[in-house]
Amino acid sequence: MTIDTRPGFWQALGFCIGLLAMAGAMSSETAVGADEGSYPLIAATVPPDPGATAAPATQPTRQPDLAPAPVPRPGATNLLEACWGPQDLRGRPGERKSRGLRPPDHRPPEYQDPETPPGAMPPVPARSLRSVTPTKGEKLIALTFDLCEQADEITGYDGELVDTLRAHGVNATFYAGGKWMQSHPERTMQLMADPRFELGNHAWTHGNLRVLQGAEMENQIRWTQAEYERLRDQLLALPCAAPLAASKAPPRSPRTFRFPYGTCNKESLDAVVAAGLYPVQWNIVTGDPAKGQTAARIVNTVMSQLKPGSIVVAHGNGRGWHTAEALKTLIPALLKQGYRFVTVSELLQAGNPVTAEQCYEVREGDNLRYDKLFGKGTQ
Ligand SMILES: [Zn+2]
Repeated sequence: MTIDTRPGFWQALGFCIGLLAMAGAMSSETAVGADEGSYPLIAATVPPDPGATAAPATQPTRQPDLAPAPVPRPGATNLLEACWGPQDLRGRPGERKSRGLRPPDHRPPEYQDPETPPGAMPPVPARSLRSVTPTKGEKLIALTFDLCEQADEITGYDGELVDTLRAHGVNATFYAGGKWMQSHPERTMQLMADPRFELGNHAWTHGNLRVLQGAEMENQIRWTQAEYERLRDQLLALPCAAPLAASKAPPRSPRTFRFPYGTCNKESLDAVVAAGLYPVQWNIVTGDPAKGQTAARIVNTVMSQLKPGSIVVAHGNGRGWHTAEALKTLIPALLKQGYRFVTVSELLQAGNPVTAEQCYEVREGDNLRYDKLFGKGTQ
């Protein structure tokens, strides 16, 4: 087959993190073609304002798809139970699919300035977290799922994956793009309201923060913080949330950040830290964006590279292949070995951070070519 090198092609494949990790398991041609055909380019039903890229938003963003309970559900002990029943939480058919947006939506969000002052996680080094060494030797593991969304797409929600985590009572962290939160308001509020989950910042439109500079780079971070705060306010204002809003509120803002494409430089590391966020990468790559990936290979990768304090990267926006299926084997296997599932913030509290000056996928320098391939990365 011919490898297409057009700038939009790679993004259309749904590339996030992990194709590179597959390179050892398959030829590069197979890896490139792995996601072909998985991304239906359907015209957008919500046409964005093409002239509003640099101007402040003058119109409300998309209407939320809200369907929480009108009053608190009886016996609820947290916001999730108070506002949504099992039927509302369950993944819906077709929800996993992504669709294209033409023209791309580069509009800023309705609110662009987070109210929360930086400094939520002191002391934060301007380095990238790879894993944590638990001080008490405890077998801890942080599963993380990226919710990536660029300007020219609306990505999905992997309901089966989230349902599986909930069914097993597993704590996990979701790195949500700001625009993903905007286009999935109800799912975002459900993730926020779930006491087992934590939301981190995954940039506004999946920008490559090693290429973006100045305000364009900083907006990727800031707008996402602001969108989280907007939806948190919206969640707490729901009538069903009222009795528990004071005692069970989610954190005021995300505390950790994941670089799209796993790429950073000194300027972007400094900007993330200045925003009060901990830069978080991983030490185990599932490779789940590659269509050729299998559940068995994901399980094998995690189990063979596992150590206490590991951070695993996978995807929850429907671009992960067999991720949920792998979890159904992985979770019992990890529990059997005595592992406990924690969020990234919980992991950071439990040990000493293992950090790196550079951002890389598996070894230093392995993602430098992404700058040429993806440019600004936002599409
Ligand atoms: Zn991503």
